[in-house]
Amino acid sequence: MNGSSSLFRFLLIPLFTTLCLFGGSCRKTQEQSELQIPEAELPRILQDVRDGIAIGPRFSGSPGAERTAEWIRTRIGETGRKAELDVFTDQTPLGTVTFRNVVLDIPGETDSFIVIGAHYDTKYFPPDVSFQGANDGASGVAALLALIRSLDQAKPKLGIRFIFFDGEEARFSYGPSDGLHGSRHAVERLRGAGELARCRAMILLDMVGDRNLCLSLPADTPPFLAETARTAARRLGFRCLMMASSSVMVDDHVPFQKAGIPAIDLIDFHYGPGNGYWHTSEDSLDKISAESIRTVCCLVREMICLLEEKR
Ligand SMILES: [Zn+2]
Repeated sequence: MNGSSSLFRFLLIPLFTTLCLFGGSCRKTQEQSELQIPEAELPRILQDVRDGIAIGPRFSGSPGAERTAEWIRTRIGETGRKAELDVFTDQTPLGTVTFRNVVLDIPGETDSFIVIGAHYDTKYFPPDVSFQGANDGASGVAALLALIRSLDQAKPKLGIRFIFFDGEEARFSYGPSDGLHGSRHAVERLRGAGELARCRAMILLDMVGDRNLCLSLPADTPPFLAETARTAARRLGFRCLMMASSSVMVDDHVPFQKAGIPAIDLIDFHYGPGNGYWHTSEDSLDKISAESIRTVCCLVREMICLLEEKR
């Protein structure tokens, strides 16, 4: 992911005093909702970040990336669901590379669905550089896995398609054949299957594990999705501060937006002083808070409820 420094801040301060129920549907009054990811999930969330990191470098085309895709499928399989491994090739500055998206489709009561995504690949660094990608990679994966575990077996009103993207990171700099490989491929698949019109929205999670959680809504966020996020945060009792900005992010939500799908990037691009931990050896497990990941998951669950109300 790449983005200009943003003034657009979205501060979430969780107040986890509300009763948490696991796996339920949308329960709320107009002004107050319950957190739908229980506190008991925190150790599993942290373990998923730890296990993701333990695989080692996960840059696209590496053995680590392939192992990560299989590990994600295994973790999903433990919930009783079966994820698809979507293998494809694409041109990169280094030639043809094999990529693997992991896709879990949960059909809803209607044909309409939303996409929830996160990238699992990590930025390439030479072997002598230690880079864990704890936040930029592993945190989003842990969030999606927690969201999948939080869903019961009942059909949701809107279908949900979880996509773990490969190839988000550019090897050199973002362009038509460098970076966003998995998300561009996913959009082309939607187009090929005639599903673009049925995809109501896309929610992207990236860098959601910082202890000092501060989500940014890029300037290209569709107004109704920005409002959905704000309403969700208010209902959950998260205190929000939002400032307008002209900054945009180059991230996996962009191909969806280009295809006409409303897409929002829930990203914390204030990672360490001056975003100094980003793409450095400082992006390590000790900077990660499972509570932050849980907070974002609760926000997404609430956004899903709101999108269902609007269907
Ligand atoms: Zn990155």
